[in-house]
Amino acid sequence: MDLRSTDGTDPARTLAHAPTELLIDGAWSPAASGATFPVSDPATGQQLALVADASPADGRRALDAAVGAQHAFAATAPRERYDMLMRSYELLLERIDDLALLMTLEMGKPLGESRGEIAYAAEFFRHFASEALRIDGGYQQAPAGNARFLIAKQPVGPCLLITPWNFPMAMGTRKIGPAIAAGCTSVVKPAHQTPLSMLALGAILLDAGVPRGVVNIVTCTAAGDVMEPLIRSGLARKLSFTGSTAVGKVLLEQCADKVLRTSMELGGNAPFIVFDDADLDEAVAGAMAAKMRNMGEACTAANRIYVQRPVAEEFSRRLAEAMGALRVGPGTEDGVQVGPLIDAAGRAKVVQLVADATDRGARVLTGGTAPDGAGFFYPPTVLVDVPGDSRMAREEIFGPVASIIPFDTEDEVVAAANDTAYGLVSYVFTGGLRRALRVAEALESGMVGLNQGVVSNPAAPFGGIKESGLGREGGAVGIDEFLEVKYIGISV
Ligand code: NAP
Repeated sequence: MDLRSTDGTDPARTLAHAPTELLIDGAWSPAASGATFPVSDPATGQQLALVADASPADGRRALDAAVGAQHAFAATAPRERYDMLMRSYELLLERIDDLALLMTLEMGKPLGESRGEIAYAAEFFRHFASEALRIDGGYQQAPAGNARFLIAKQPVGPCLLITPWNFPMAMGTRKIGPAIAAGCTSVVKPAHQTPLSMLALGAILLDAGVPRGVVNIVTCTAAGDVMEPLIRSGLARKLSFTGSTAVGKVLLEQCADKVLRTSMELGGNAPFIVFDDADLDEAVAGAMAAKMRNMGEACTAANRIYVQRPVAEEFSRRLAEAMGALRVGPGTEDGVQVGPLIDAAGRAKVVQLVADATDRGARVLTGGTAPDGAGFFYPPTVLVDVPGDSRMAREEIFGPVASIIPFDTEDEVVAAANDTAYGLVSYVFTGGLRRALRVAEALESGMVGLNQGVVSNPAAPFGGIKESGLGREGGAVGIDEFLEVKYIGISV
């Protein structure tokens, strides 16, 4: 159970040292029933580990631990919480080789990308360590002059944190970081496909001195059965969820019962717009980053690539060349740039979306056919002339498929880009300052990448509008999601 004793080069050794039990009240324990579930390698389909499969009773034990720890944790000095987060940050970086190997084994992304995610995940701890020291308030005169207002911020209370499989570590630290900084305890539920990274993070938090009961981790296969009673118990005061819009809507309804605070980081359908005055080298590099990070399995992935007609052919040719040159294979192999997709269902969806688009007239410039054999691989694919009414223009592709749609005018492309229920991120490539600002302001999304293909940064407020979510994570506002504002009126 101690990743410190391996060097991240031997999968068997790393797996043998990885925690697989529930973390409740500072101790590792099996599910009360003894049940486990298998975690498998998407590159081979082979089983990697058996992990504790929590029941609703185990979930309740974890929430009771979080509730029990809340009062004392809220009273810790900000500097103590700063120290815990900074120690966790340092340990994440110290153990990056092992953690990256573990992540690649269970999630599939190439080792270099896993290392990148661990470093990104660690940055949330460093960022929120400082935020713990900056929780502020106010002092104000009542307009009539006969009273004073003291404005204080207090931790929301015990939180439920639910995370997806695509960024198994960073989506956790983006919530756990501000929760600890604010003085909130939590129960974390990672996705069933990738529990090992979160459990390894649990071991780091214990080693970093996070008190027992402050972060509890529950792994399970029956997410709804375990989490719904916790949401409806009224004992937790907040739910922070990252995952699909469909599940987010179900959880919002459940949260209404006891009026829980919610943060929702949901799905996306990002438009990526290339105007004919853009630097095409930058636009192709931006599209590669926005499309291929995480094999396209990112909420921020460029889902619809709109290219102005005069440069559409040239851009498509260059993108197809770059995509076709990528090396596909198991993420643990040297030089591999594209790993497998997460599972059979994830790949089947990509296959269906490509078939739907080509049936409607889209043309394949590269890729387009899933290989035979073990693992859930799919080749980097570029489709051109994708009709606006095809499924891939409306749904998250979540795979390495670039779908190119030509356009003529600025008004036309802004209308098309906004014609979606989602509103997480948009990308715009143009050389014109006025157009850049005009279009960035007109796009209905919480974030815009202007001549850049990556927007994620722990110091920036990440989040969506419309059906992409509620609230922001990261930035100066990320901690506010875990704080209540209390006003104390004082008669003078
Ligand atoms: P998902 O199916 O919605 O699952 C996300 C998490 O919710 C998992 O831990 C899952 O557990 C849990 N869950 C599922 N049903 C639940 C229920 N009824 N009650 C409580 N928990 C439940 O999404 P995913 O396939 O893992 O992740 C991909 C999605 O996440 C995409 O839509 C992507 O865009 C989105 N995402 C958004 C952001 C963002 O910041 N906006 C970031 C990353 C990903 P199980 O694994 O056990 O089912």
